[in-house]
Amino acid sequence: MLSATNTIAAISTANGVGGIGIVRLSGPEALAIAKKICSRQIVPREASFHNFYNAEREIVDQGLVLYFPNPKSFTGEDVVEFQGHGGQAVLNAVLSLCINNGARLAEPGEFTRRAYLNNKIDLAQAESVIDVINATTIEAVKSAAQSLSGKFSNKIKDLLKKLIELRVFVEACLDFPEEEIDFIEQGKVIERLNNIAAEVDQILLVAKHGQLLKEGANLVLIGQPNVGKSSLLNQLVGEEKAIVTEIPGTTRDPIASNISIHGVPINVFDTAGLRATNDQVELLGIEKTWESAKNAHLAMVLVDATTGVSEYEKDIVSKLSKNIEILWVYNKIDLIDEEPKVTEHNNHKAIYISAKLDLGIDLLREALREILLGSLAYSSNDTIYIARSRHIDALNTVKACVIKGLTHKNSSELLAEELMLAQNALSSITGEFSSDDLLGKIFSEFCIGK
Ligand code: GDP
Repeated sequence: MLSATNTIAAISTANGVGGIGIVRLSGPEALAIAKKICSRQIVPREASFHNFYNAEREIVDQGLVLYFPNPKSFTGEDVVEFQGHGGQAVLNAVLSLCINNGARLAEPGEFTRRAYLNNKIDLAQAESVIDVINATTIEAVKSAAQSLSGKFSNKIKDLLKKLIELRVFVEACLDFPEEEIDFIEQGKVIERLNNIAAEVDQILLVAKHGQLLKEGANLVLIGQPNVGKSSLLNQLVGEEKAIVTEIPGTTRDPIASNISIHGVPINVFDTAGLRATNDQVELLGIEKTWESAKNAHLAMVLVDATTGVSEYEKDIVSKLSKNIEILWVYNKIDLIDEEPKVTEHNNHKAIYISAKLDLGIDLLREALREILLGSLAYSSNDTIYIARSRHIDALNTVKACVIKGLTHKNSSELLAEELMLAQNALSSITGEFSSDDLLGKIFSEFCIGK
């Protein structure tokens, strides 16, 4: 275990007022500091009620104290928690008691960083601590919890084991260059490389879903003024967030609303109505709309079903990036006596709805689900782990190295090199092979007290 010289302290509960607030201490002096503050004996792993005293023996607060001796604590060090009252002034006062008695203020993410440095959790698990905290849908919470429990790390470690075994075998071949080809055949090297590539693909599939759960998708809602964008947004959000109005051009800013489709958080950018105008404010809105469209995963083009697709929509769609998925939505079908349905327009899905009468919204949600998750086809029994771009990039590197390795089947040396690169990339996910820069970047995302 790495021994930290400092004992750190922080308020671990969120800013604001609550019934209970927690101040946490971690490090070699945690118990000694707590003894100076508390009124009674502190027993390991037992909740005991104490007055919290300052140096003048005045009572600052009272509450429960929990003591977790090392190594069986979150950080792997001695940890003491003061569960006092949850007001900011009182929590700051208890924190001051810790600082005055020798602790220093923890940096953001320092508790979790210590847990990682003391091998209590690996890097992927440390990242999922913040993912659990920041998750915005229940599915994202569940998948972050799977990663925190180590399921994602275990998959990576299993694969790493296979990769290392293969690498060791190939490296051994280097000592017998004359028999290299035989070795490769005997060791079923090609088969093993193919199996590893297939496993990487499987993990990537699940990880990509996890990444969507974590990062969400951006949807830009395009349509002429009065076509029903705000009304549709309100249907999808489930509450009145955008302004519904009869006056064209009043929805000026691309308002980001958060909806969720099968657990995927979606940021919807309502548009200012991309129409020709001289109004400066509207022009600004139009500019913002184009900006959001550039980064969007998909564009939903809302068309007035009574008039059909016009030059206006055709023009905008032609200007969209070719990578953006397009979903056509015909609104106001109640005015043309049409039923909700799914058809096609220009090789893209088209849905007939009435935002006002709540018709076809379920078809629309299903179409959105298909666009976002449809290509991620795996068994529903699969565990979804939360994943980050960093993980996806590392897995893609592993895949690329393995594929390249397959082309070097007649050269153990080149193959061994690719396997080493693949191993490094894979190990970076769990942090067995990570630079200080990366650690600094990851832990700086945390708030103080975590
Ligand atoms: P936006 O300018 O595109 O945001 O359009 P709004 O959502 O503000 O809607 C403009 C008008 O069309 C409002 O009077 C809505 O009530 C009406 N509207 C929206 N959706 C429908 C629909 O499906 N059917 C009918 N008949 N009217 C609708």
